[in-house]
Amino acid sequence: MRNYVMIQRPSLPADMRAAISRLDAHADEAIINEYNAQCRLGFTGVYAQAIHVLALHQQLKRRFGSGPLSITDNALLTLGGCVAWGGTGWLETHCSDCQCGLNNAH
Ligand SMILES: [Zn+2]
Repeated sequence: MRNYVMIQRPSLPADMRAAISRLDAHADEAIINEYNAQCRLGFTGVYAQAIHVLALHQQLKRRFGSGPLSITDNALLTLGGCVAWGGTGWLETHCSDCQCGLNNAH
């Protein structure tokens, strides 16, 4: 699935902090590769996976000023497509050749 609705459960802030800090030591390319792996998989409906995808997004946002995930009304998460390492940050890529099925038009 391309979309996931994040329920604002009480543990969310702590879950997010833990998920983000687990990724602190990961190299930029590793974060991007993992984001793309999740993009190909899509949202499965499992809360812990959505937290992981959101944490990858927050790591990219923290490092480069923006993240690849669309977040609507602070709750609806939308995968836009795979990203690539551009030397100084992440870039949107063409998904027509990849397995994620999102067919990103960028
Ligand atoms: Zn893709």
